[in-house]
Amino acid sequence: MEKKKGFTITYEYGGNLYVNTTNRCNFNCNFCLRHNKGSGSIYTHNLWLEREPTREEILADIEKRDLSKYEQLVFCGFGEPSYRIEDICWVIDQLKAQGKKIFTRMDTNGTGSLIHGRNIAPDFAGRFDMVSISLNTDTAEKYNALCHPAQSGAYQAMKDFAKELRQYVPKVMMTVVDTIPKEEIENCRRICEEEVGATYRVREYIED
Ligand code: SF4
Repeated sequence: MEKKKGFTITYEYGGNLYVNTTNRCNFNCNFCLRHNKGSGSIYTHNLWLEREPTREEILADIEKRDLSKYEQLVFCGFGEPSYRIEDICWVIDQLKAQGKKIFTRMDTNGTGSLIHGRNIAPDFAGRFDMVSISLNTDTAEKYNALCHPAQSGAYQAMKDFAKELRQYVPKVMMTVVDTIPKEEIENCRRICEEEVGATYRVREYIED
């Protein structure tokens, strides 16, 4: 059955304004919400895009909102937002030039540098207050079985990116979901806090 597509660029959720920038992804995670019923309806919005919005369309959609109403402006995507890193940086620069002040965050799988074939961490400097990276699990083998990355070496690349990003972003967070075994949760805590030096968060699993 063909997926119903729309053009939801921004949507409200949990006191934040989320920005849906892309449906592209280099992963195919077993748990991806995109597999669930095909509607993208978790936030009661259809997040399948009929086409990717241009940077100007993203900016215009954000400008329609009263940013003082939200705690954070979160660049995510029903996909991997770092595909749009140049456009997202441009959008944030425009907002800053207009004097708009809002806490900025990206939720990412952490493989943007692998996707682009260059170190994208410096692009975050002065633009993002926080980046949340999905750590997911404690070994590369489990990661590959769970996330099916298109590129080899994705697990190490994700951890390297998180470490690199600490130089440029005030808060780097790594997350796992609370459905993994306790021992794995603790292994991931060690990787996040001791190996990478990031803030650790165990997230509640959200069903569609
Ligand atoms: S990285 Fe995110 S968008 Fe991509 S497949 Fe995994 S859960 Fe889905």
